[in-house]
Amino acid sequence: MQGYFFWRILILKYIIFDLEWDNFYNYKTKNSINEIIEIGAVKLNDRLEIVDTYKQLIKPRFLKKLSKRCADLTKISYDEMVEGGVAFEKAIDDFKKWSAADDETVYLSWSMSDMYALAYYYSVIFGNCRIDFIKHFCDAQQYCTVYVPTDKRHGNNQLSLAYCAEVFGIQTDTEKLHRALMDCYVTADCLKSVFDKDTFSKYVNDCDNVFFERLLYKPYLIVNPHTDIFDIDSVVLRCPECNSVLNGAGDVAVKNKAFSFATKCNKCNKPYWAFVRAKKTYDKVEVKQKLIVMNKRKAKHYQ
Ligand SMILES: [Zn+2]
Repeated sequence: MQGYFFWRILILKYIIFDLEWDNFYNYKTKNSINEIIEIGAVKLNDRLEIVDTYKQLIKPRFLKKLSKRCADLTKISYDEMVEGGVAFEKAIDDFKKWSAADDETVYLSWSMSDMYALAYYYSVIFGNCRIDFIKHFCDAQQYCTVYVPTDKRHGNNQLSLAYCAEVFGIQTDTEKLHRALMDCYVTADCLKSVFDKDTFSKYVNDCDNVFFERLLYKPYLIVNPHTDIFDIDSVVLRCPECNSVLNGAGDVAVKNKAFSFATKCNKCNKPYWAFVRAKKTYDKVEVKQKLIVMNKRKAKHYQ
């Protein structure tokens, strides 16, 4: 609870940022990079009033042109980036100076994707994903979703910024604004309309090494049945009929990144096909299992 009161007293500054990026794909090396092309941000004081704005185009390093999709969406032209852009290293340094963040400053963006894109591209350029001046981060989408009535949410789908603004009754006069900045303004309006410091503080993440490493971690399906982090023999399967523990895995086949094997209930004698999928995430292995009753002819073969 200590952190809770700490936050309640000390947040004095909020930086809402929004990025534009485009995908660079090198056909020779099969290398794919999401290159950041613009950073936009607004600075809010403790009363959530906008006190400053930041906008910077980035000079392309990998991209040879912009995709049509990106150009249409951002209204940015490649020539504009080349002429008006600065190197990412300079832009990130300027952004850091402009932020003038202290230990209590909270960075925000709409959904995790901008934070992910920033940490990812930062690691491409600097070789590590630890953005040292970002000490605290809040996903504004996650926070604002709390205030959207359940009947107005679209199931588990992510809430778009435009839709959230609509639900909160915010007028978005966005014609004249540039995209990266426009999204920051709208996010600020959404945040302000439902802001409660006590609740907000619960959605603020500490951005330590683990935060950034977890952000960039790519989960994968384990395809080796016996490793240090996962062993098919330690998976407990229970008979759907009588709940007894089934026989362990014998001959394990690996197909479509799933393990399958024949097993049997010793109590009610029912034979099954077992299917197990093991996914390695940042800090655990998630195991999913499925049992299908084996047909009689097949079962004879395994008994
Ligand atoms: Zn059984």
